[in-house]
Order: sequence, then C-alpha cells, then structure tokens
Amino acid sequence: MNKNFNTDVCIVGGGIVGLSTAYFLSLNKISVIVLDPDSIGSHASGFAFGGLSPLGEAGQVDEIISELSVARLGMSIHTEFAKILPELTGIDIQHRFRPALDLAFSDEEAKEAKDQVKWRASEDGYSVEWLEAKEVLDMVPEISNEINGAVFTKGVADVEPYRLMLALTTACEKMGVNIISTKARGLGFDGHTATSVISDRGDIHCNSVVLAMGPWSLNASKWINQKIPIRPLKGQIIRLKSDKVNLQMSVGWQGNYACTKPDGLLWAGTTEEDVGFDDSPSSFGRDSVLASLTKMINGLESAQLIHHTACLRPLSNDGKIILGEVPDTSNLYIASGTGRKGILLGPGMGKITSDIITGSSHNYDLTPFNLSRF
Ligand SMILES: Cc1cc2nc3c(=O)[nH]c(=O)nc-3n(C[C@H](O)[C@H](O)[C@H](O)COP(=O)(O)OP(=O)(O)OC[C@H]3O[C@@H](n4cnc5c(N)ncnc54)[C@H](O)[C@@H]3O)c2cc1C
Repeated sequence: MNKNFNTDVCIVGGGIVGLSTAYFLSLNKISVIVLDPDSIGSHASGFAFGGLSPLGEAGQVDEIISELSVARLGMSIHTEFAKILPELTGIDIQHRFRPALDLAFSDEEAKEAKDQVKWRASEDGYSVEWLEAKEVLDMVPEISNEINGAVFTKGVADVEPYRLMLALTTACEKMGVNIISTKARGLGFDGHTATSVISDRGDIHCNSVVLAMGPWSLNASKWINQKIPIRPLKGQIIRLKSDKVNLQMSVGWQGNYACTKPDGLLWAGTTEEDVGFDDSPSSFGRDSVLASLTKMINGLESAQLIHHTACLRPLSNDGKIILGEVPDTSNLYIASGTGRKGILLGPGMGKITSDIITGSSHNYDLTPFNLSRF
C-alpha cells in the first residue's frame, strides 16, 4: 500500500555517490531517505575494481586533471572511512595503500608516461618515478620482459567496493538514514522548488532532492525538463586463482589493470563497451581482459577463472562529472558522471553535495561541473 513520507533530503539512487551524500548529511543531523529499487552494491559501486588513484593511470591525464580537487578530497575521505567504517560497522573494507606500476611497451608509450611523471611527482603525498625495464622486472618478475619501462607510484590505494558499500549502508542506517527499496518515477514541484519525489511506494515530501542515479541519470531528464547527458559504459572484471602470480601492487597498461587483492585472487580488468544497459558478463569481455592481462603478466597458464562480473559506468558526454545545483531550481542537486573514477570521487562528491545543502562553506569551484555546460 502506498503511503507518504517526510524527510529533509530525499536521495534518488543508493550507489557510492548517493550513500556518501546520505552519510555526510546524516552526520549533520539532517534526516535522509534514500530510494533504490535494487540491492545495495548490485551495480557498479559494488562491482568496481576499487582502485584509488587520484593521479590517474598512465595515458589518462586529461581524464582526471579537471577533477583533481574532488579526487584529492575523495582520497582523504577514503582514508578516514578506512578507520571509521570498520569501527562503526565491524565490516573490514580492505582499504590498503599499495603502489602502482603503469607499464609502457612502445617508445611512444614510454615518452607519454615520462611526460606525466613531471606533474604527478609534484602532487603532495605521492612518490612518482620512471623505472627502466630491468628495475621493474627486479621488483615484479612476473611482468612481461617486453616492457620498455614503467611509472612507479607510491601513495595510491585500493578498497573492496562491495564491502565498502555494505559498510557505508550499515553506517548510514545506524545514523538514521531510511533506505527504501523502490523506484523513483518523478518529482513534484511548486514553481522552481522540488517538493516531493514520486515513487512506487508513495510520495516522499522533502526540502531538497539529490539525483544520484548513476548510468540511469538520463531517465530524470523529463522530470527536470533538461537533458542529463549521461550514458552507460560497460566494463568487465575477472578474478583468477593463481599459484604462481601474486601481485602486491597494481600493474596497469593503457586502462587495463591487475592486482592480487586481500581475498587472494588476482583481479583484472577491463573493457569499455558502449552497449546500452546490457550488464551481463560476456565471452568477449573475458577474452579481452585475458588478452591485456597476459600481455602484462607471465605465468598465468594454469590460473583458474573464479569470478567474472560486468557493470555500467555513468559516463557524461564530455567525460567529466556533473555536480551541484540543477539550473533553474532552488533545492535540486545532481551528482553523477563519474565514469571510471566513481569509487574514488563518490565520497568527495557526497561531501560537497552535503556541504551545499547544509550551507557549509567549501572551497570547490563547481562551475566546470554544472549541468548548464551542456
Ligand atoms: C568494471 C568497472 C571497474 C571500475 N573500477 C573503478 C575503480 O577501480 N576505481 C574507481 O574509482 N571507480 C571505478 N569504477 C567506476 C565506479 O564503479 C562508478 O563510477 C561508480 O560506482 C558510480 O557510482 P554511482 O553511485 O554514480 O552509480 P551506481 O553505482 O550505478 O548507483 C546508481 C544507483 O541508482 C539507482 N537508480 C537508478 N535509477 C533509479 C530510480 N529511478 N529510482 C531509484 N534509484 C535509481 C540504481 O539502482 C543504482 O543502485 C569502475 C566501474 C566499472 C564498470
């Protein structure tokens, strides 16, 4: 039976972005309802790789540089979460600092990687250097001896995304956040002010609304009469059991990566597939991830495939996040478009969104991220 709910803030979408927003609002004693029809962590926020690399991966400088301030904030919140969430919930989110090696095979890749060392090395809190092939192979003998060299970065980290989502959800619920399993269908307005979220379980009357719908954000375009240009970009990950390969650092090449996680499995990704909302693992994805993995790493002939997942990244038309007030509204906010970096950026976006709603001061210039840029 449908009923009406009342709350200060209603958040549509319970991924890392929506739940991080709920977490920071509830720390400020704001009452929050989160709506999501699906189980917690059942989409990209629960099935990502979990790499936390504010400096980007080699070859991805343009993708990350405009969002570096939000990435720095995300990184520092993850470090706080690593302490607070296990204490609050008893869930080990397996956050750890571990280095990364971004491999270069060709001379061209090596030149591009060396150019990036300059700006990456200037970031506080990280140590970044170019290593020649022999130094890399001395450090990680499993790496292909075809490499030219690699960028070695210390100060980056990873987390287990599904455990993080469980812990964040548990923490939110302990702080009084009401997570309702239902789909939002629209918004009620009084002029430019959103007054309610219309859902399958009833209307949620509220003072502010946050749209954190990930790859489904486009569906809210008709609610706000403005196009939200976000589409799904599928990615696949495999997890292997290997007696021979134990990578205690993340090894990457051209957007692909591999690392042995605390569960003892070698996690490897990924694909970028523009195939709409199909989020099923495919033989194409498996073979493509295996091809990049075996180009980077030797000794996997007898490895066993244990797990294979696929999920959808929310990608905006210009590849950058959309964050802040929805134009021409007074109490409606959007946070999405995190692409390949949502686990890293999500907590920072949640904190900023919470600061805007509570009127707390923050130092982030959100102009480049406003929906009005499209
Ligand atoms: C293979 C892969 C690997 C990745 N690896 C990394 C990584 O190493 N590091 C990193 O930082 N990022 C990584 N990412 C990216 C990251 O996973 C995403 O950017 C992030 O999870 C997006 O979070 P979100 O909360 O915006 O979206 P989602 O997690 O998709 O959550 C959105 C939620 O909104 C809900 N929703 C949609 N419509 C409605 C509605 N009408 N009503 C109510 N709820 C609704 C959905 O059910 C969903 O639960 C990876 C992504 C993929 C695919």
